[in-house]
Amino acid sequence: MSVVGLPEKVEICEVAPRDGFQSEHEWIPTKEKINIVRALAETGVRFIELTSFVHPKAIPQLRDAEEVVKGTEDLTNVKFRALVPNLKGAQRAIKAGIKIIKLMLSATDSHSLSNANCLVEEALQGFKPIIELAEKHRVVVGGSISVAFGCPYEGNVPIEKLIGIVDRYKEMGVKEVSLADTTGMANPKQVYEYLGVLRNEFPDMAFSMHFHNTRGMALANVFAALQQGVTKFDSSVAGIGGCPYAPGATGNVATEDLVHMMDEMGIDTGIDLDKMIGVAKSVKNLLGHDGGSYMLQAGPCSQLNPKPTGQVKLER
Ligand code: ZN
Repeated sequence: MSVVGLPEKVEICEVAPRDGFQSEHEWIPTKEKINIVRALAETGVRFIELTSFVHPKAIPQLRDAEEVVKGTEDLTNVKFRALVPNLKGAQRAIKAGIKIIKLMLSATDSHSLSNANCLVEEALQGFKPIIELAEKHRVVVGGSISVAFGCPYEGNVPIEKLIGIVDRYKEMGVKEVSLADTTGMANPKQVYEYLGVLRNEFPDMAFSMHFHNTRGMALANVFAALQQGVTKFDSSVAGIGGCPYAPGATGNVATEDLVHMMDEMGIDTGIDLDKMIGVAKSVKNLLGHDGGSYMLQAGPCSQLNPKPTGQVKLER
């Protein structure tokens, strides 16, 4: 029994193959992408956001979405999710064999206009045919809200906005909503308060959290969400990623940092930390950089240093 009522187990969704890769300008060969996904699957991670079925001109890096699905379809012990920005994307994803899709919209009109070239209401309207199509093919649909806690153009996002959007998702039959702090503006107090309101207002809705570590608050925000009983988190190996449309945005909380924190607190992730650090190293080698990873910098707490030799207590 945990003193602060923390869950015993969490589910981590690895998003580097989508959120991480999409912000890399230099082409990552499809084979390398597939290799990374396969290596991730070996760490014990059982949920991966594989790609986004976005227009190839909008994000050229993900133009090989179909091939990545094909190259990983034998990994039957992993659930794969893909992001779909519109009906065309949903059609492609379903045709490729994806069984879980994630819809995306922004909490504010300003971010929505720059990210998706439409107003929030227009984005919501566009979901109806996607959801109908998904139902027909027995594909699970999750919702998401970008810049849920703060918008780089409008600042603080009032909770009423989130309530309004979650309500619309609920009406459409969506059972899980990912709250994304796309540009790292959330703080732990706000996360705790917002989730308290949302869980009270929508007791049957599952919430998952997607924190970027732009301002170093991601792990603290994870802890605040844990205290509200949330057990689903996105993270990105080596902390890679960002939002191509949000100025100065950096990567998601690094998966190895998240797994490490959970391990230290005795919360089960099902992921082997050493193996995840290994993948983080290969991702860093492949891309030539990481996106901010404490594990790559300092290593886990369990990795003790040898005691300095000849230690003597000095006389005062
Ligand atoms: Zn993100």
